Amino acid sequence: MASRSKSRTAPSGPSPFVVEAAPLPREKFSDPRITAAGETRASVALTELDTLWFNTGTLCNLACATCYIESSPTNDALVYLSADHAARFLDEAQAMGAREIGFTGGEPFMNPDMLPMLEDALARGFEALVLTNAMKPMRRHEAALIELRERFGAKLTLRVSLDHHSKAVHEAERGARTWEPAIDGLRWLSENGFSIAVAGRLLPGEGEVEARNAYAALFDVENIAIDPRDPARLVLFPEMDADKDIAEITTACWDILGKSPSDIMCATSRMIVHRKGEAAPRVVACTLIPHDPGFDLGATLEESSRDVPLNHPHCARFCVLGGASCST
Ligand code: SF4
Ligand code: SF4
Repeated sequence: MASRSKSRTAPSGPSPFVVEAAPLPREKFSDPRITAAGETRASVALTELDTLWFNTGTLCNLACATCYIESSPTNDALVYLSADHAARFLDEAQAMGAREIGFTGGEPFMNPDMLPMLEDALARGFEALVLTNAMKPMRRHEAALIELRERFGAKLTLRVSLDHHSKAVHEAERGARTWEPAIDGLRWLSENGFSIAVAGRLLPGEGEVEARNAYAALFDVENIAIDPRDPARLVLFPEMDADKDIAEITTACWDILGKSPSDIMCATSRMIVHRKGEAAPRVVACTLIPHDPGFDLGATLEESSRDVPLNHPHCARFCVLGGASCST
């Protein structure tokens, strides 16, 4: 973390997106089978592989205050995924009938193999979703992106992180001078007819309707063609903080919350990561937990097709509870 806060792009103050909760007690999320209270921990089975994510590497042009993967211009804990390695997993995903390939980072467009990997995925008939900050690394590839849009149309979607509808909050999280380039990149995508989406966040206490209205006003002024009421086009994420207290998820929680394990991200997706020092990429349960050995599911997608015990605070706060509470 020290090298992140020293990054010249890092914001100077604390994140505006704090999770207000007590520290996480040590005994929680320590046993994949049972919770600290001795109850059976919930797990999620892979029902089908719908989305295969590629983590393209942790390097990023930014060092946002609460980046869940601690990306920065110097963090290469996850190295650049190569097009050759990606192709091997695309073969396997094709055989398993996956629909979509997602690309996340770091900033995916910093990976020198990003365009070949994206082209490979689209040429095989997959839909592709690229998470980007829409800044300089993406803008270097304008001509290639337009060519992909001409060939593949709406099969390619770019989802731009705009943490908040206000410049002040966005820059408090992402650093000074990050707002205009992101808006400019988003406007460029919109004006050039790309399929686009925005990923945003809610401040503590900020209501979703209020936030969607404020994004609507912004999109209007900036001429960005996104329907702010469409939850797939303006995605508003709950907060995550692995160090803050949260309830553990037991098998009884599904009924209490009226949710099904099949609704959870790891029921239909997996992510490929290439950790520094390892000879080849590995398959992990989801995009949120790239380093925890308990969520490393093997070297191939086939090997990774097994149950995932929900033994991490992100499983509870982000995926299952998402702001709800699991109590009788
Ligand atoms: S732009 Fe995304 S990947 Fe980069 S530091 Fe910010 S949150 Fe992390
Ligand atoms: S955070 Fe946990 S519950 Fe959510 S997708 Fe990842 S492994 Fe599954």
